[in-house]
Amino acid sequence: MTESKKETAQDSTILKVENLEVSYGGIQALKGLSFEVKAGEIVSLIGANGAGKTTTLRAISALVPYKGNVEFKTKSGTVTSLSKVQQHEIVTFGLAHSPEGRGIFPNLTVLENLVMGSYSRNDKEEIAKDLERCFVSFPRLRERSKQKAGTLSGGEQQMLAIWRALMAKPSLLLLDEPSLGLAPLIVAQIFEIIKDVNKEGVTILLVEQNARMALKVSNRAYVVETGKISLSGTGKSLLDDPRIVASYLGGH
Ligand code: ATP
Repeated sequence: MTESKKETAQDSTILKVENLEVSYGGIQALKGLSFEVKAGEIVSLIGANGAGKTTTLRAISALVPYKGNVEFKTKSGTVTSLSKVQQHEIVTFGLAHSPEGRGIFPNLTVLENLVMGSYSRNDKEEIAKDLERCFVSFPRLRERSKQKAGTLSGGEQQMLAIWRALMAKPSLLLLDEPSLGLAPLIVAQIFEIIKDVNKEGVTILLVEQNARMALKVSNRAYVVETGKISLSGTGKSLLDDPRIVASYLGGH
């Protein structure tokens, strides 16, 4: 582990992304993207298809190589440069990622998926309590705990993906497109869970195409445009911003 001691007690920044650059072959997906997240916030990245939102989350989780710097305040309170650590180590620092497409194991049961989410922990009693929290929050997962995850509905699979990430007991949860392909009622439920999880103390970095829903629940948001941040502000101010209304909220 390569934890540095840059921590200052007053600084509530949990994630600081500076000048992120990612290329896929000849295509530069991120072109010097910078933003930060403070502990306790819900922060959204919104933007069009292909703007670079998923790539940003993938870089933070060390799933793609990048230039630039990503600093994360670990559970122990020290600030660590994530560019120097392996993906599996990042989970132990308190950062979990619920990926686009959900990333659950369809041939494992619901329970096995949840237990896999806690693999980086060894506090058995606390794991059992978190499992119970999951089942109370979304009883359908208890009812279907012995079923293969692939047999769940899309909405149930998304709940499972979120709870699997939460089973790592993260301080920061990266959520990629949790509303993708889901009916409006289920989307509303997912956003309620996002708010509840945040109230319980988990900081959230959310990537969403559903800009309206994202901005409504977010303390702050950043607009990603062709690999860079083009605009930022509070969720509320961006909801009323004519540029956002015209480009991302359907013009009304
Ligand atoms: P979406 O909502 O469609 O996922 P996004 O904002 O998350 O959009 P990214 O998925 O990060 O955008 O994609 C950013 C750019 O990188 C796009 O031009 C995309 O085509 C390209 N890209 C993403 N993944 C790959 C890949 N594995 N190989 C090549 N190009 C990629």
